[in-house]
Amino acid sequence: MKDIATASRTKEILDKHGVKFKKSLGQNFLVDANVIHKVLDKAEVDEGTAVIEVGPGIGSLTEQIAKRAGKVVAYEIDQRLIPVLNDTLAPYTNVAVINEDILEADIGGMIEEEFSDFKEIVVIANLPYYITTPILMNFLMQKLPIDRYYVMMQKEVGERISAKPNTKAYGSLSIAIDYYTDAKTVQSVPKSVFMPAPNVDSIIVEMRARKVPKVSVKDEEVFFKLTKGAFVQRRKTILNNYLILFEDGKKLKGEISALLNAAGIDPVRRGESLTIEDFAAIYHKLGDFPT
Ligand code: SAM
Repeated sequence: MKDIATASRTKEILDKHGVKFKKSLGQNFLVDANVIHKVLDKAEVDEGTAVIEVGPGIGSLTEQIAKRAGKVVAYEIDQRLIPVLNDTLAPYTNVAVINEDILEADIGGMIEEEFSDFKEIVVIANLPYYITTPILMNFLMQKLPIDRYYVMMQKEVGERISAKPNTKAYGSLSIAIDYYTDAKTVQSVPKSVFMPAPNVDSIIVEMRARKVPKVSVKDEEVFFKLTKGAFVQRRKTILNNYLILFEDGKKLKGEISALLNAAGIDPVRRGESLTIEDFAAIYHKLGDFPT
């Protein structure tokens, strides 16, 4: 039988089950197995690997993962696709499909139940573009025992995720991802490998989870508030952004300025020039300030 990740088989499967693409769920299915093989080579998936997939669609990526991995658990929100997946993935006994919103799922509980025998856990996904960031942050903030992530996403988001300071793409998302993982873009993906072809270009991002976060902060929520607050108006200095972020900021200008200096940060610098270590220093001086 032909791979699911081909244009002809995809059409056949959709016709057979009378299912149409749902744009609102970001349904752009992969119809090129070569791209998938490249991802799986990079991800070094073998029988010792347990894989979590987000959004299997009709099983294009899932099928190729199942051929290499020890086990795959795939979360699909669209109920219409469950009978389709039961059909297309029937030959693969190492796949379980869960009909749940990944943002609501008890991933930690699933890992304990299903993945205790595996040497490593990897997330692989062609993510629905409209919720890429919430899905990634939801995984990372739960501190699950996941080793690495290989995720296809909109090119601009991928560039923001892996951006370094002093670049246009650098911002609070780059810092949040850098806090939990070592991220880099692996390769770009042409629109032509999807059906239907999306309007935007795509890219694959690798994120290797850090054993401990890159900097040590007690309250991550406060830390992320300080990083976000520095980028609200990118052209403004960190001091001017913080005058807005903090309660009574304008009245406390002198104090905020002094604390930034005490953190070793010149208050006229912009957020985009500050490393995650700079933000940790800011957190240790300004973390208790009411926002
Ligand atoms: N993996 C398939 C492929 O590569 O051909 C489909 C990828 S498609 C870009 C995204 C998939 O995610 C769709 O099947 C969509 O229904 C599903 N999806 C969207 N939001 C979701 C959510 N919150 N939780 C789980 N799945 C979701």
